[in-house]
Amino acid sequence: MIETSDMTFENRMVTPEPMAEDREAENSLRPQTLHEYIGQDKVKENMAVYIEAAKRRGDVLDHVLLYGPPGLGKTTLSAIIAREMGVNLRVTTGPAIEKPGDLAALLTNLQTGDVLFIDEIHRLSRAVEEILYPALEDHAIDIIMGKGPSARSLRIDLNPFTLVGATTRAGQLSSPLRDRFGIVQRLELYTPEQLTDIVRRSSMILEISCSLDGAMEIARRARGTPRIANRLLKRVRDFADVMGNGEITREIAMIALDRLEIDPLGLDSNDRRMLDMIIKGYGGGPVGLETLASALGEETVTLEDVCEPYLMQLGFLARTPRGRCATDLAYAHLGYPAPNRNTGGGTSPAAPGQMSLL
Ligand code: ADP
Repeated sequence: MIETSDMTFENRMVTPEPMAEDREAENSLRPQTLHEYIGQDKVKENMAVYIEAAKRRGDVLDHVLLYGPPGLGKTTLSAIIAREMGVNLRVTTGPAIEKPGDLAALLTNLQTGDVLFIDEIHRLSRAVEEILYPALEDHAIDIIMGKGPSARSLRIDLNPFTLVGATTRAGQLSSPLRDRFGIVQRLELYTPEQLTDIVRRSSMILEISCSLDGAMEIARRARGTPRIANRLLKRVRDFADVMGNGEITREIAMIALDRLEIDPLGLDSNDRRMLDMIIKGYGGGPVGLETLASALGEETVTLEDVCEPYLMQLGFLARTPRGRCATDLAYAHLGYPAPNRNTGGGTSPAAPGQMSLL
């Protein structure tokens, strides 16, 4: 039997997408400077150089593309970039810009050097993208006035600005758009140590008393994602208030996270359901993503963006040219005996060190 769950990916506790309850606290928890921004050292070091160089030359910062799974700090970083450059930030998303005119209105209101942040930039429509190209390259947009033979094109000059685009999937960006970003940075899942620092910082801001090992327990189960770490911190606080004296200790954190059905490695029922399906439904794999998604009744993007990055970081899932495979570690974690892999060839997912982590 495959384990089932009535919890959907949207309402799961460990979804890296923002939930309604996150929004208010997120703003107070966002680091304001590069110095405060925990982890992502390579990205921070690079951005510090690019920002400093642009400031010294009195230039506008080059366009920046940030990519990586949701909840890792792309929006936060764009606000930091604007603050460090000393300019205004305008925030929007790809799907919110429906018509070329919407983008034109945004662009013509930007001051010199301003940062325009477009989240989910891979979801811009083709027609909107076309307006963006000359804006990015020549600081101008071409507007078509009228229709038919009397239509004429009007060029409007813009103030030079910086576009910061964020996407969970750089591969889905059209190449003309991708090529127009001078700076491309990939954000990685955070280590439990970095997440511990994030939980400690957030608990100070939210005035939650949290011991070091309580913070570590939350961090270990936050699947590499600051947004999830902050959300778990708030839920565990509820248990600490009701079951203890308000302090988050390791014991309280363990009880609370177990109650929330998040296992000691941060997997929830949906992750286990996916691994279970590969192991029991498809003999451990390989199984194609589409097949897997339809067997689970999920969208392929949900599996790719939400489940896979973390399962791969744990070494539980391997992507092979023939499909997804559960590794020996996954079998062990779910309590299944190790599979017999003497089938004479193919890619062995037994050694996590050899897996593709992309
Ligand atoms: P994304 O745009 O990638 O989905 P966000 O920038 O909205 O992610 O980050 C989600 C939350 O996680 C933020 O509110 C912030 O509090 C926290 N966060 C993200 N990155 C960091 C970091 N490097 N250090 C501390 N907190 C972070």
